[in-house]
Amino acid sequence: MTNKFNIQSLIRPNVAKMKPYSSARDEFKHFDNEMIFLDANENPFETNVNRYPDPQQRQLKSILSKQKNIPIDQILLGNGSDEVLDLIFRAFCEPAKDNIITLPPTYGMYNVLANLSNIENREVLLNSDFQPDLDEILRTADARSKLLFICSPNNPTGNLIASEKILRLLQTFNGIIVIDEAYIDFANAQSWISKLKDFPNLIVTQTLSKAYGLAGIRLGICYASKEIISVLNKIKAPYNINKLTQQIAFQQLQDIRTVYGKINLIKADRERLLKALLQIEFIKKVYPTNANFILIKVDNAEKRYLQLLKNGIVVRNRSSQPLCENTLRITIGTTPENEKLITILKQLK
Ligand SMILES: *Cc1c(COP(=O)(O)O)cnc(C)c1O
Repeated sequence: MTNKFNIQSLIRPNVAKMKPYSSARDEFKHFDNEMIFLDANENPFETNVNRYPDPQQRQLKSILSKQKNIPIDQILLGNGSDEVLDLIFRAFCEPAKDNIITLPPTYGMYNVLANLSNIENREVLLNSDFQPDLDEILRTADARSKLLFICSPNNPTGNLIASEKILRLLQTFNGIIVIDEAYIDFANAQSWISKLKDFPNLIVTQTLSKAYGLAGIRLGICYASKEIISVLNKIKAPYNINKLTQQIAFQQLQDIRTVYGKINLIKADRERLLKALLQIEFIKKVYPTNANFILIKVDNAEKRYLQLLKNGIVVRNRSSQPLCENTLRITIGTTPENEKLITILKQLK
């Protein structure tokens, strides 16, 4: 780790100074006791959701902490990882002054959040293997480059970013590196959360939206040093994770074998689909993937997209992204859905 790194110097001055809002449920922490709660102006009649949810989501964090082997004070939960990303921007990026670095083609939300906060987004394209150009990244960074976003496995390309490249960036970049691991459970690779001990400038985000099958409840997870987590905790909305979300997420985490069973089915189907796609004449390239989707290059993306649509199948045309001309991104569906896709692809003229 470069000795220049200093978390305090990266936090926005107003955030460093501010005191968090203290909610009734923050002040009184002993939930389970048979107490009479007359402190939060809630309605006393029981409906399961008449009380405010736990602002610190202790039950949920404690099961995550055990499963991931990360201390509770290094975990923050968000309303989807999109909220986590938004909190990271608001904690570290001073509007109109700071900048971030992103590596297109990649997830669009980093740029949206940068625009929203009036933060310059310095884009350094991935190379033709969709790997980062380290020299160019370090040339592009300056003292106001607060965040570098690395999506691995990357969306929309599907590949992992090489671990030696990430390691090198962790050792040399003077801001915070956010590794977005939305698809890590589909990958043949370890999560970077095991490296948090070594790198105080590392933030890892994950989500229950993809592998855990819970996109509808909106639950994103952020792992980082306890200093970074305490800054994010200070600025988050007090009740950002609603009670129903906390309950459903907890139930699913308790039944982790079912989650892994489905992940394995998707991975098996992914291999079958990869092979089948290679047989289709107008598909020029099938990119390797570590995610639950496959990027393909076709002869004419717009034409093929519309043909699939006419046959009742919606895929994503990613042609507007750099290095992704004439590409379609296809999510792995159920086995019958994937078979239907292949049948239709084979019939297209
Ligand atoms: C889908 C996706 C997310 C979404 O996260 P939510 O937890 O649903 O907000 C984050 N990052 C990437 C790269 C994604 O593809």
